[in-house]
Amino acid sequence: MEPVITLKQADFLEMGNIFRSGAFLQQCFSVHPLSLSLKMLTLPDKIGVFCLHCKSRHRLTVDTISRVIGDAELFEEGAARMLEACANAHQEALHVTEVSVDGNIVQFRCRECKAGFQTKISLYETYQP
Ligand SMILES: [Zn+2]
Ligand SMILES: [Zn+2]
Repeated sequence: MEPVITLKQADFLEMGNIFRSGAFLQQCFSVHPLSLSLKMLTLPDKIGVFCLHCKSRHRLTVDTISRVIGDAELFEEGAARMLEACANAHQEALHVTEVSVDGNIVQFRCRECKAGFQTKISLYETYQP
């Protein structure tokens, strides 16, 4: 069964470059925060963040997506759909504005809608080319 072998080899090769730690995203955010943008959103729980600077791809598995209103208020209701609408309409406007690996929190902001989103992360996977 040749296709199966090919798939396994591909998986194996990719595994070598995948790091399951939030430290890599934190590092990107500390060093070049403006290079991080949302590149993929697959509800209910997958977000892809691409770093233009070091070409790392960070795949996040999220527990919750909330809308941030003002300084501290969070609303979960409808937030995931709103983020999805942003991602579909103007993905380039979505940027990472906060990474806190200690709190497992990553925040995004949409420049078009002037809306902030907070995601609670359960798994970080970084793929480095
Ligand atoms: Zn980076
Ligand atoms: Zn938007």
